[in-house]
Amino acid sequence: MYELQNRVAVVTGGTSGIGLATVQLLLQNGARVALCSRNAQNIERTLQDLKRLFPDGDVFGMPCDVLNKAAVASFAQSVQDTFGPADVLINNAGQGRVSTFDGTDDDAWMQELQLKFMSVIHPTRHFLPQLEQSGQGAIVCVNSLLAIQPEPHMVATSAARAGIANLVRSLATELAPKGIRVNGIFLGLVDSGQWRRRFAARNEPTQNWESWSRDLAITKQIPLQRLGAPIEAARAIAFLASPLSSYTTGSHIDVSGGLNRHV
Ligand code: NDP
Repeated sequence: MYELQNRVAVVTGGTSGIGLATVQLLLQNGARVALCSRNAQNIERTLQDLKRLFPDGDVFGMPCDVLNKAAVASFAQSVQDTFGPADVLINNAGQGRVSTFDGTDDDAWMQELQLKFMSVIHPTRHFLPQLEQSGQGAIVCVNSLLAIQPEPHMVATSAARAGIANLVRSLATELAPKGIRVNGIFLGLVDSGQWRRRFAARNEPTQNWESWSRDLAITKQIPLQRLGAPIEAARAIAFLASPLSSYTTGSHIDVSGGLNRHV
């Protein structure tokens, strides 16, 4: 369906939530998929699950912290050795930081800026020589609606996300002559590890996930009145990674259930 048969696709943060849903969708569509995350046990468990679900699928995974330049270089080399050069890079690994300006000290700012920027910069730099060989290379950055609709309670994440949206635009222009498209998605609230962790730390322990997440959607005034599912984000990612979006670069797809108020 997405015309990704035999394409080599790399997903950072592929063991949970949106990354995992993307890995599964890409495998369903015949791509050869390489994934990474920091935790070796998560990788092992994910690879076992994927081999059960996709017995004929080509999947490779190894531990790699995307903030560690040497680890990313080694991941990129291993992907090339396993599958040949990558055609698609999905920069997905990461998480948000909940804090106001008053509650964000300089160290926290530096950590958040480093996470958001280097989680895109390191993989992009190290997979670039492979993507250049593709002829139909595509980079997709998983971003947040906070990039264009900032929230004061996530001040550092919002500012850093805006920078990544800006970077996507620059990369799209610079890499177009090399046959590589660069796009992103703007997420609203998607049911994943991040929200499950906040649910686990909820104030009202008797409240179940359905009721807690519905209340959250109503409080946030999401027009579709629910959180998104990881597969709903994955479909937008797969579209931008695929030749179906061959004349689209430097842009973002909104996956926010209508939370985006921009015309
Ligand atoms: P999850 O917590 O479910 O998954 C995050 C994944 O990233 C895990 O596989 C995790 O594995 C991996 N990861 C985290 N840090 C690193 C790192 N430094 N190096 C390599 N892997 C890493 O989160 P989501 O699926 O929700 O998040 C995916 C992306 O979407 C993130 O960038 C997030 O900020 C963004 N996003 C999500 C929203 C949402 O509502 N869910 C909203 C806006 C943006 P491990 O712990 O083993 O490293």
